[in-house]
Amino acid sequence: MLFDCYRPYLRRTTTATPPRSPASTLTAIGDDFDVNTDTTFALCSADMNALADESQCLNDNIINAAQQLLTRQYTSVSGLKDTVLVAASACDVMLESDITVNAVQVVHDNGKQHWLCVTNKHCSAGHLRIYCSLQMTPSVQCLATIANLFRMQSPSLTVDIMNVVRQRGAVDCGLFAIAYADILARDQHPCNVNLDQLQMRRHLIRCLAAKHITPFPVTKFRTIRRHVVRSVVVSLYCVCRSTHSSGEKMLQCDQCREWFHQRCVAISDEMFEHLARTTANYSCPRCTGVNNVDHEQLGAGNSDQ
Ligand code: ZN
Ligand code: ZN
Repeated sequence: MLFDCYRPYLRRTTTATPPRSPASTLTAIGDDFDVNTDTTFALCSADMNALADESQCLNDNIINAAQQLLTRQYTSVSGLKDTVLVAASACDVMLESDITVNAVQVVHDNGKQHWLCVTNKHCSAGHLRIYCSLQMTPSVQCLATIANLFRMQSPSLTVDIMNVVRQRGAVDCGLFAIAYADILARDQHPCNVNLDQLQMRRHLIRCLAAKHITPFPVTKFRTIRRHVVRSVVVSLYCVCRSTHSSGEKMLQCDQCREWFHQRCVAISDEMFEHLARTTANYSCPRCTGVNNVDHEQLGAGNSDQ
């Protein structure tokens, strides 16, 4: 049986971020910048100017520099992967069975041009929490990116949109996403703080200069009853445990009834058309076992596309 879906096409693509500057260094803006070159922590002057400009959203380089610092400071926290690779589904996936520590990741929603923070912290199997400063439901494209990264074995993925204090305006979402990641890494709850938005940009500039992330300033702490604004459930399929996108060819195994992406089970277009035209049965690699397919590798290979 074949499956041609009408849902909006989830395009796996890189962000529109321009290529990074080669061999760039942290460049001084003002007097409080450390101009020492750190090859593991490279930001060019354009990045720092963009960060200082209150009318601009944070770019991938800034987000990744902050995530690098958090990775250094909190060795027990996993995730914090390069956001460009995450958006392209080109980084190592985090298998649910392998995540022995809590994972935190800043993700760019290309569909909504918005940064958010996702974690499996305090989540049961098949669940993730999203801390979004606009409390938005991620685009279908972003949900696919998240599903690709957190490789769940459950039939579906449930994401809870958390009840954080909403930001003013639309350009500071990256600052909030980093602040949420920092709060989660500190084992605290982003819902319980009212971040001081006016101070956040300057605070991050100081942290990057000092190469150490300190807690973002808050105007007050709060206690709330409702922690989840809404939950979104997406179905997961195939050996890659990802979503289905509109226009993407899928086929169902006649034995286990699971759906598979054509590209993940190495079915040629000719064979796909043959199966579509005839009553021939299809058995997935898992059921036949003849291909000796390593499902995890196949999934990881798929993520490289
Ligand atoms: Zn697949
Ligand atoms: Zn099967």
